[in-house]
Amino acid sequence: MLGPDDRCNALAYICDLALSEYRCPVPVIPYKKVNARMMMKKFMDEEGQGMPPVRTKRYGTGDHYKRIYLIAPRHPENFWSMQGTVDLLGARTLMPNAALATLMSLTPSGVNVEYVLCDENVSTLDWNMPCDLVAVTGATLHRKRIHELCAGFRQKGVKIALGGTYASINHDQCRLLADYHFIGEAEYTWPLFLQQWMERKAKTVYFQQTYIDLKDSPAPDWSLISTADYININVQTSRGCPNCCEFCDVIQYAGRKPRTKSVQQVLHEVETAHKIGARTVFFSDDNFLADKHFARELLASLIDWNTAQSRPLSFSTQITVEIADDNEMLKMCADARFSVLFLGVETVRRKSLEEVKKSHNLKYDIFERINKISRYGIMPFLGLIVGFDNDDESVFDELYDFITRTNSPIAGISLLNAPRHTPLYNRLKEEGRLADDDFSGEWQLHTNIIPKLLSREELLLLYCELFKKIYDPALFHNRLQGWLKQVAYRTDLYVNKKFDPKQLSNGIRMITYFLMSAAPEVRKLFIKSMIETWRINPGLIRRAFTFLAQYHHFHEFVNKNCQPASQRQ
Ligand code: SF4
Repeated sequence: MLGPDDRCNALAYICDLALSEYRCPVPVIPYKKVNARMMMKKFMDEEGQGMPPVRTKRYGTGDHYKRIYLIAPRHPENFWSMQGTVDLLGARTLMPNAALATLMSLTPSGVNVEYVLCDENVSTLDWNMPCDLVAVTGATLHRKRIHELCAGFRQKGVKIALGGTYASINHDQCRLLADYHFIGEAEYTWPLFLQQWMERKAKTVYFQQTYIDLKDSPAPDWSLISTADYININVQTSRGCPNCCEFCDVIQYAGRKPRTKSVQQVLHEVETAHKIGARTVFFSDDNFLADKHFARELLASLIDWNTAQSRPLSFSTQITVEIADDNEMLKMCADARFSVLFLGVETVRRKSLEEVKKSHNLKYDIFERINKISRYGIMPFLGLIVGFDNDDESVFDELYDFITRTNSPIAGISLLNAPRHTPLYNRLKEEGRLADDDFSGEWQLHTNIIPKLLSREELLLLYCELFKKIYDPALFHNRLQGWLKQVAYRTDLYVNKKFDPKQLSNGIRMITYFLMSAAPEVRKLFIKSMIETWRINPGLIRRAFTFLAQYHHFHEFVNKNCQPASQRQ
């Protein structure tokens, strides 16, 4: 449904935010590998000064270990990082890097390695970390930082392994960046590399040419993260999407044939997330509905598992609007405790959907589909795009009308971009409509295409106007009220569950912020929204908190980016 890697990967905010922060009192080692040990170590910087202790995790036996410094690059300032919401809830970023945690789990027995992890979004990079290898991953969004990291460590004479979606999709641009270049999925190539590297026989390129069987993908080893740093813990159930939206690069690296883990694998990962203190799990699939049969089976198991917990989890994911065409599955989502669904609506203009081959959005009435999701008490998070070839000035009014009439409190609007190697990229290249600058991985405030019916300046101006309008406090309040009124179904499977003190502390944090620190119009909106929610349906108060936390982010985005320079905050 959604699209390109960067956008999909950055969507973990679509969770039940009011339940998020939790500091796990002790680091938990979720998986037992051969002699896996974890310890805190102190290192010295170049001046011999002590550095803060770092957590390490060892795999293997013996006295000698090779150390690998795993690095998740920092996100550039970016619309989809939902940093306003993250800050409000006292976390550091949305979710941990599952690719690096999976590499740890892929360590074969007989290989002695010690891992140190740096997620630059939660901790400071140590350029002088003593190590035998630096391993970097990232999406196109991280392009600039990936290049900086590779150049910086190379200058220090450290060997570098580079993988991830950016290095896979743009392998031609990454050829000289690292000593070991991983193209494609790493489940089979990483263990092979480790063995060959230990024997000093490592190759420079590891190219996974076929798609791996996800049953061979182990659960990530989260032992080097602190759950409190993140809003969600992410669990991937499937890869690939059967659709073929023209602008989407998911199918370039994950394929069109959906591949899934087993239900048992997913439940095990969910259980681990619960054990390490997560309150929300984000299913980081490209399209949770890619294999409908599997999704149904998984939902049934999730309901059984979650209802048996004294402290149930909330779930969220990315999914196509087709979920609304199946009442039973929609009810199952509500019963499993899915609180938010990110929906790749993209646009309501039929010609634009046809143009980009998003035909699955055309089958039924999109207004009714969104309303139906809301009726089940699930918060729709609309993903919209402007800048299609059929978009003229009037599309902005159509989108505004759609957001208003569906009472959708939150919508994220992107500018159409053409990621490299997508059918859209190829078409626009032929038409000579690619701008000089390459796709940056960001979908906000910039596009690498030359629009057909508008100039780039007009497009950006109208985009900002639409953003300003939908996040006007009074108009947001009207939609929130409308949304609360249309909720018709609330599952009763979770009544009488144990009180979660973290829920209360998050609520207090938000109330304190909105009453003491928010701008006057936002404070007023908060008070009004709370009163109205209490009047309409007090059982939805947690939903209202979540919408307001998301609103906070978008309000900041508008103030920062969509105002005349003199009025920006
Ligand atoms: S191809 Fe699939 S993942 Fe990509 S935008 Fe379309 S529906 Fe979403």
